[in-house]
Amino acid sequence: MQLPTAKQMYPKALRKEPRDSQRQKLYDAERANGLWTRWDNHRLETVALMQAYANALFTHPDIRAKYGIHVRKFVEVKDGRRCRRALGGRDWVKMPRWSRSKAVLCHELAHSITTRLYDNGVAAHGAFFCEAFLDLVKVGMTADYYEALRDSFDKGGVRYRGHEK
Ligand SMILES: [Zn+2]
Repeated sequence: MQLPTAKQMYPKALRKEPRDSQRQKLYDAERANGLWTRWDNHRLETVALMQAYANALFTHPDIRAKYGIHVRKFVEVKDGRRCRRALGGRDWVKMPRWSRSKAVLCHELAHSITTRLYDNGVAAHGAFFCEAFLDLVKVGMTADYYEALRDSFDKGGVRYRGHEK
């Protein structure tokens, strides 16, 4: 007997998260126009520095006002040893040495917020994620960096919400 596939067993709404179709566009936009190099001007080398930065973001009045209970619990910053990639889960982020900049941390924390808000109901790097990423960059980095990232999203066709010019 052949086992039913997930597609046959579950209605569409219960299946795995939507296809992460915007990921490559986002990665490209993060690196376009020298932005990637500029990330490295905002390094946070230690777990303690990253944790303090993450906590400050989650207690920022604008972030609190918008995300409420979803940012009440701090995200634990882990050192990411044995990890090649930086990772963002619901309640933790893993930050290997290469990744320890404010911008990468904002990216991973945006995964935490997106997961808390939508579980796996939205694409990992979709419009909701990009909105949260821009929200964190806006309060956590310089205005010119925020504007450069947002412009890069626009030029690269990266969808996000709620950041009017
Ligand atoms: Zn990501």
